[in-house]
Amino acid sequence: MTARQASPTIVIAGAGFGGIALAILLKKAGFDGFTILERAADVGGVWRDNTYPGAACDVPAALYSYSFEHGYRWSGPYPPQAEILGYMKHCIAKYGLSPHIRFDTEVADATFDAKASQWRIATKNGAELDANVFVSAVGLFNRPIVPDLPGRADFRGPQFHSARWDHAAPLDGKTVAVIGTGASAIQFVPAIASRVKQLYVFQRSPQYVVPKAMAARFGNPLLERLRVFFNFERGIPRRGSARLTAKAERGWLAYLANAVRDPELRRKLTPSYPLGCKRVLISNDWYPAMQRANVELIDAPVEAILPDGVRASDGSVRKVDAIVYGTGFSPTDYLTPMRITGLNGRTLSEAWRDGAEAYLGITVAGFPNFFMMYGPNTNVAGSIVYMLESQARYIVGAIRTLAQKHARFIDVRADALRQFNDEVQRRLSTTVLVRDDCSSYFRTASGKVTTQWPGFMFEYRRRTRKINLHDYFLNTGA
Ligand SMILES: Cc1cc2nc3c(=O)[nH]c(=O)nc-3n(C[C@H](O)[C@H](O)[C@H](O)COP(=O)(O)OP(=O)(O)OC[C@H]3O[C@@H](n4cnc5c(N)ncnc54)[C@H](O)[C@@H]3O)c2cc1C
Repeated sequence: MTARQASPTIVIAGAGFGGIALAILLKKAGFDGFTILERAADVGGVWRDNTYPGAACDVPAALYSYSFEHGYRWSGPYPPQAEILGYMKHCIAKYGLSPHIRFDTEVADATFDAKASQWRIATKNGAELDANVFVSAVGLFNRPIVPDLPGRADFRGPQFHSARWDHAAPLDGKTVAVIGTGASAIQFVPAIASRVKQLYVFQRSPQYVVPKAMAARFGNPLLERLRVFFNFERGIPRRGSARLTAKAERGWLAYLANAVRDPELRRKLTPSYPLGCKRVLISNDWYPAMQRANVELIDAPVEAILPDGVRASDGSVRKVDAIVYGTGFSPTDYLTPMRITGLNGRTLSEAWRDGAEAYLGITVAGFPNFFMMYGPNTNVAGSIVYMLESQARYIVGAIRTLAQKHARFIDVRADALRQFNDEVQRRLSTTVLVRDDCSSYFRTASGKVTTQWPGFMFEYRRRTRKINLHDYFLNTGA
């Protein structure tokens, strides 16, 4: 950015809840020079991709929505996917964002040109753009994992991942295998159980599933938002307390004993890892579905796919007409497969050889004018939209600083980044997340927790409220 250029140009990768929040706040702040590049043909991120039966938010929409757009008329506390997508489209229309979005445009490469103080951005379809500021808002759950099981290619029926649901595949009256029992399966298994003839659910590891909170208690959306917010915050101290974890586990076991009568099924559904190690799932329908006559829970991972069935690791074979992979995503592979190159030709993957980390989950030393949304250690057991909005405010603050100080670029100081991450890892090291009996997608192969925020959501909001310039190097050279 030149010294006299008052309004930076900005490229945002991704038009999910994150990219849209930032675009709205940029507009509100008077920064109109932004473009959103979106890989897909529509907005919405996970709420465009996950159309599986039963898809809905599990954080009430009173909180799983933008604070500046909280009066939306939701059909209920946990609205379905189509309604959440509708909300996002309503925001796009209301804030006039459409002209700023380029669809079918995937960012492949972004390189910082220090001389020109410009990010040079290359897309997969061959376009090139320059911008003063580059923001990644590509999300955490955008790369579905389909396990590379032997025989997969030879299966004769339809097979698909839950995030790419094949609505044309006939499931009614069929025998269907579901592989995986994560957050998505918890939602779509109950939704299809009554339609299929027989459902085989293959489980690698059971989940703690708890019932949904009661419907909205307050008529006032703002009060309801606060109530839901504090409900989630209440659970945070438990993660660092063995006593509170044990107490919550006892409460959950009592709930399960009531929800599932058969002791053998209960045994299969009881996790061997501590509560809070993985995301606690919310459903009223999961345990009833597990007890249906046409549903069998197979407590063994799948070993191979046969042309007409599935073989579990215990050697048993189930013949099936279709397979649904509820096998989740790869969230610790932050920002892949984009290649991002900062100062002195250093790439982000080099900087992250020991696991992703960023200052407040947003900035990385040596990558000036580069910001991330839903970056490392910003995932919470609460509303991600709340976290994204905090990040959007922070990034707008940084851009305002660039403009007001006529700076070429802003770069977080390496010592500020180090201190912050030492603190995050120190705080996480006393939580259930790093216990020996806890392995989850929050951790990398080497065991580092790179996804989770260690504290309350409101602490994150407070710490991102205003950019602290002591933590940054501001280049104001001509
Ligand atoms: C099924 C499901 C249910 C969920 N439910 C909840 C919930 O109830 N509560 C909660 O708090 N969180 C929930 N989450 C987490 C969810 O990821 C976040 O809440 C939120 O939607 C993240 O928004 P985002 O914009 O950061 O990412 P995304 O929604 O993933 O959007 C990222 C966008 O970036 C695009 N993109 C990716 N790579 C590129 C590229 N290289 N170039 C250009 N564009 C690119 C993608 O196509 C996508 O549109 C859920 C996730 C899933 C998968």
